[in-house]
Amino acid sequence: MLKGSCHCGAVTWRYEAVPEGATACNCTACRRYGALWIYGHEGEGVQLDGPTQAYVRGTSLAFHFCARCGCVAAWRALHIGENGKRRLAVNVRLADPEAVANIPIDHFDGLDTFEDLPRDGRCVKDYWF
Ligand SMILES: [Zn+2]
Repeated sequence: MLKGSCHCGAVTWRYEAVPEGATACNCTACRRYGALWIYGHEGEGVQLDGPTQAYVRGTSLAFHFCARCGCVAAWRALHIGENGKRRLAVNVRLADPEAVANIPIDHFDGLDTFEDLPRDGRCVKDYWF
């Protein structure tokens, strides 16, 4: 299980599966946040806890951040999907670096094509420093 925490500790997340990849996205929001996302569905092995504030982006999702220290912890779908589930993605930047070091990076072109791009061999640790 992976765990993440904002800097002040008020907001935490838990992720019970082993993520296949962490997504780096170049969209106008993610490039500013510098977030790396792992995806799941709310109530199914991924959980966000603590008092967050939400920045609603468009009509599909909201970014959740700690109002005290400002860390972006997650994005959460505004609506339940056709599969009856609500997508919840958490930011692996909030995890212990060693716990997530070897997760491969997936690239998502959220700026232009909205498509997944091929992996280039980099892992989360290559994005850390
Ligand atoms: Zn905080």
